[in-house]
Amino acid sequence: MPTLVTIEVFTNPVEAHLAKGRLEAEGIPAWIAHEHHIWANWSLSQALGGVKVQVQAEQEAQGRTILQQHLAGEYEVSLQQEFPDTEPEGCPHCGAKAIQHSIPPAMLLLLILTLGVVGVIFPLRKARHRCHGCGHRWHL
Ligand SMILES: [Zn+2]
Repeated sequence: MPTLVTIEVFTNPVEAHLAKGRLEAEGIPAWIAHEHHIWANWSLSQALGGVKVQVQAEQEAQGRTILQQHLAGEYEVSLQQEFPDTEPEGCPHCGAKAIQHSIPPAMLLLLILTLGVVGVIFPLRKARHRCHGCGHRWHL
């Protein structure tokens, strides 16, 4: 078994799998730790330290670089260049395509409450956006 190091932590297992897929697409084997605790009880995600994305120790630096680019939206830009037909909306202020999406805290609270009361996870839209180019923030 290789020595694994955690290079990123997510509260959402889906985001962790996206990061793992990005790393593997770049030729870096990746593992996900503690995801099943989170799937079983999302409200404990923060308390359990989140879902960890791990790589082999000798690939830590390369893995961190790739994930930084992934989280900054750099691969999204290259994807748009390769497949221009799938071009998403850009920043309404400057037109930049590198955009960070996030879930507003109120939506997360609603998710936790509905999970606790009804026991069902309702899919959330990523309704908050921030442009990496100009810093503009907006909601959809
Ligand atoms: Zn912008």
